[in-house]
Amino acid sequence: MADEFDLVVIGGGSGGLACAQRAADYGARVALVEPGALGGTCVNVGCVPKKIMWNASEIAETRYDSADFGFPPAPEGHDWPALKAKRDAFVARLNAHYAHNLATRKVDHIVDHARFLEAAGRTLAARHVVIATGGRPCIPAIPGASLGITSDGFFDLETRPQRVAVAGSGYIAVEFAGILEALGSQVTLIIRSQAILKMFDRLLGEKALEMLRENGVVIETGCRPEALARTPQMGLELTLQDGRRLGHLDCVIWAVGRVPNVESLGLESAGVHLTTAGFIATDEYQATNVAGIYAIGDVTGRMPLTPVAIAAGRRLSDRLFDGQRERRLEYENVPTVIFAHPPIGTVGLSEEQARARHGEAVRVFTTSFVPLYHSMTNRKPRSHMKLVTVGPEEHIVGAHVIGPGADEMLQGFAVAVRMGARKRDFDDTVAIHPTSAEEFVTLR
Ligand code: FAD
Repeated sequence: MADEFDLVVIGGGSGGLACAQRAADYGARVALVEPGALGGTCVNVGCVPKKIMWNASEIAETRYDSADFGFPPAPEGHDWPALKAKRDAFVARLNAHYAHNLATRKVDHIVDHARFLEAAGRTLAARHVVIATGGRPCIPAIPGASLGITSDGFFDLETRPQRVAVAGSGYIAVEFAGILEALGSQVTLIIRSQAILKMFDRLLGEKALEMLRENGVVIETGCRPEALARTPQMGLELTLQDGRRLGHLDCVIWAVGRVPNVESLGLESAGVHLTTAGFIATDEYQATNVAGIYAIGDVTGRMPLTPVAIAAGRRLSDRLFDGQRERRLEYENVPTVIFAHPPIGTVGLSEEQARARHGEAVRVFTTSFVPLYHSMTNRKPRSHMKLVTVGPEEHIVGAHVIGPGADEMLQGFAVAVRMGARKRDFDDTVAIHPTSAEEFVTLR
């Protein structure tokens, strides 16, 4: 006999937890199926441990400038194992916190893989089923690829690798390259084309690449990996299709994309359709083609970010269990940060997207400056900003920045963009001085 619920959520990551808890808060009878650590990618092998490593790398970077501010030169060396142990302990506390949250809401936490619709030997029946199974990193289909690691393996590293190749041009590759370089590794970033961060405004990718180079990351462009091998003489050696060989590596990190976790779900028996790219196809209300089955988060392939998965999950529960009939997530103007060195903040349309959509009506404002912090330092990295506006009213449709503080700067500007701010609203806002953020309201 089936166990009856109002809602079964498959996957206990960012989206699944948010959806399940919100539904339980409305009084729904909820089961959540998750075989692994609660919190999913973000908490265990994504945003959270990544940000901790980025924080460490930011501290490491002060070694360049400490003498310029009158401190003795910062001591060399970094205790990676100690940081990892502390980071793992923090993540374990978060896992326990999520388990507690489910228990207090009386969500039935079933520890297993779900397959439509069974888990742990139980048959589950529900009015609504939400698939929130996220994704996993890809490994290229080349000989020896399994000698390398993915982002998951990065968080397992017990010691800092000395010579690392990071393959990929997306934000995870850029972040890992920067973190490792700052913490003392010799890093080579290998990219297929000539550019990185191609999903974002071109300015961001160009400047991020320049800054990676300035910070000492070796950039190999036009790279198509052909094979990875380990020999006693060469260590790990990556052979590229054009014959180049990158040898003497301790570690190769594949950051070449992610695929959705759909194979083991038995979606065929449920009749749920996938997109041509293999993600679960959903409409604007997160509904699949099968009545009563929904999907949220990375498994839908729509903006794979934690707050997006959370917002989609909460809004879906608002709609299903609180009668908020039109409640749904709008996927425009989602701000995000790339934790590079310096960080990058971006919201809305890139200049290229805006021009494709609005043509001649686009007007762009840019600035480039050395932040006041660097008035005292030997190194003079520049910050760059861009506002993308549309129409005679100059509505701001995109805001992009690379420079110190960008990570904490963009959230507030994202509110303004979402509310339809115009350039003159920015101009009329009194600046906060002396900051980098003030440049956004003094752009000419
Ligand atoms: P997940 O969090 O991946 O959760 C899916 C869960 O489903 C997993 O726990 C999995 O075990 C479970 N599952 C899979 N199959 C089954 C099954 N058959 N039955 C039951 N359970 C199943 N996002 C940001 O916003 N900011 C960042 O800084 C950021 N940094 C990142 C850094 C890295 C290295 C990575 C990899 C990702 C990062 N992300 C970041 C993206 C973010 O982690 C994801 O967008 C987010 O975790 C997606 O949430 P989700 O609920 O869709 O999936």
